[in-house]
Amino acid sequence: MGGVDTRWRVRQVLNVVNLSTPVGLLLGVAGGARFGKGPDGLVLARGWRLPAHASAVTIGNVVLLRLDDAALAARPTLVRHEARHASQYACCLGLPMLPLYVLAAAWSWLRCRDFSSCNVFEVRAGLADGGYRDARDRRRTGPAGREVA
Ligand SMILES: [Zn+2]
Repeated sequence: MGGVDTRWRVRQVLNVVNLSTPVGLLLGVAGGARFGKGPDGLVLARGWRLPAHASAVTIGNVVLLRLDDAALAARPTLVRHEARHASQYACCLGLPMLPLYVLAAAWSWLRCRDFSSCNVFEVRAGLADGGYRDARDRRRTGPAGREVA
């Protein structure tokens, strides 16, 4: 039938009820995005033009994309990474994820000197899938790529 798997449907419903997806849709409208269906009940908001630190920002089930279609096609794991963030919203009961994410990013900065390498949300979403380098690997291997610890 091509329907959405039950677990993704549950995530979709939770993120509507907890208001994270409606906020994501409003941000998409505010940023001039074009909405389309993504995998597993996600909404891909292409052409999003609000300033952001990353090339993709997920709010609820809405993936706000600052990439054009060619750039997105060149990063096939990015949507999978963002889908994990959508699940994190469902686990955090929606918008409480935002301050929790900020705390996790601050913790990451203190521990790893970047906002992602020690950020539990990014680590669990898959650093490599999101296009992040893992500062912990750089520390382990040293500047010449040799093992130091
Ligand atoms: Zn991420």
